[in-house]
Amino acid sequence: MINKLLGRVGRMFKSGKPRIIAVREHGISRDRIGSCALRTCDALQEAGYKAFVVGGAVRDLILGRDPKDFDIATDATPEEVRGIFRRSRMIGRRFRIVHVLCGRDMVEVSTFRGPAAEGDAGTRVEDEHGRLLRDNVWGDQAQDATRRDFTINALFYDPSREQVWDYHGGVADLKRKRLRIIGEPAQRYREDPVRMLRAVRFAAACGLEIDTNTRKPIKALAPLLANVPAARLYDEMLKLLLSGHAAECVKRLRKEGLHHGLLPLLDVILEQPLGERFVMLALKNTDARVLADKPISPAFLFAALTWHEVLAAWKKIEARGVPPAPALHEAMDEVLDKQTEQLAIPRRFTSDMKELWVLQPRFEQRSGQRPFRLLEHPRFRAAYDFLLLRCESGEVPTELGDWWTSFQNADADARATMLVADSGPVKKRRKRRRRKPAAAAAPAAD
Ligand code: ATP
Ligand code: MG
Repeated sequence: MINKLLGRVGRMFKSGKPRIIAVREHGISRDRIGSCALRTCDALQEAGYKAFVVGGAVRDLILGRDPKDFDIATDATPEEVRGIFRRSRMIGRRFRIVHVLCGRDMVEVSTFRGPAAEGDAGTRVEDEHGRLLRDNVWGDQAQDATRRDFTINALFYDPSREQVWDYHGGVADLKRKRLRIIGEPAQRYREDPVRMLRAVRFAAACGLEIDTNTRKPIKALAPLLANVPAARLYDEMLKLLLSGHAAECVKRLRKEGLHHGLLPLLDVILEQPLGERFVMLALKNTDARVLADKPISPAFLFAALTWHEVLAAWKKIEARGVPPAPALHEAMDEVLDKQTEQLAIPRRFTSDMKELWVLQPRFEQRSGQRPFRLLEHPRFRAAYDFLLLRCESGEVPTELGDWWTSFQNADADARATMLVADSGPVKKRRKRRRRKPAAAAAPAAD
């Protein structure tokens, strides 16, 4: 009943007039806004412009969460904003915005945008699929609200009056836990296919259900993601993976048919019981770290997400008769080439990823000096964490992880007793080394 009523309120917002909501209903007091955002809004308003905190920050505050950052929307043009703030700079081409700096803090100020009029080519540019390549047509506040993606992201907060201006029923949608796109869903996804990924991320991160009409076109339009530049897809994937709800996001991506091409072969990995367990454990681990405010290494995460691909390639190459070590290197290159091309894992992460992978077989060697050398390796800690995930997923025996946990914590005497007896191939290598000087000496005797 209450949902029906809230739904009806949502549909009343077609007129372009906002519902202005007072603090007793939305609950956001001025002191919840960051000081840089407050100062920026106040200065813009004093100069005679409109200024609101907008987007994710308002959504998160209504949900009772701490916003990551504060974005500001205004009717001042970027040049006018630049004129008010000495410490500011203009950025972006697709969306021209101004960064205003306060000490080490920074807020993004964007000018209200509107729909393009005929003959505006140059300020608003689309590709052949309807994807917006540039969007710098200024508009009024109602138009700006309409070009935002979801109703819950189109809320404006005026800190001086402590009011929320709601043009599309976003507050009601938040209360009834609905994610609703603004406008005609298929057209909005064509303009920007990344909105499909954003739908999944916001639904998972805010615990919302995607509205039926918002959801319906996604499966059919999913292939449009292939036209999005790899760097932008990467940015969105990273936001998703570091949202603190990555496990839930990946589950929902699969459900919506959006995972193809984002994480190549992820669907194949997720169909192998061990692969799925490993990926889900890695994601849950990441989520726990994000929620505990611990640092996350994207290289570790990407190495985990693609590990079972490396394992599969490694096995195949070894089956061709290639020895284990060179086979692993070949497998890593094969997987990374594919991933950097399709998912746009930036090349800067690949050497860290390789290092994590290459260290894995070294955990099997528990004799002589080798465990001590591994312990001293600068990436030991990350590689050990990776090993523990492998144990937890059932890929390698738990005993191996336990051994390394004890070995690290043991004193020198205890470590010596833990070493496993030397194995065959090592002796062979030593023999060969001893022979070398004799062979080298032979020509000198000539
Ligand atoms: P978060 O920063 O927590 O991920 P957010 O909602 O702030 O979430 P941003 O990517 O920072 O997301 O974007 C800020 C605002 O800009 C959004 O709230 C939305 O109103 C608008 N926006 C962002 N991306 C799009 C898009 N692809 N299409 C339409 N509007 C968008
Ligand atoms: Mg944001």
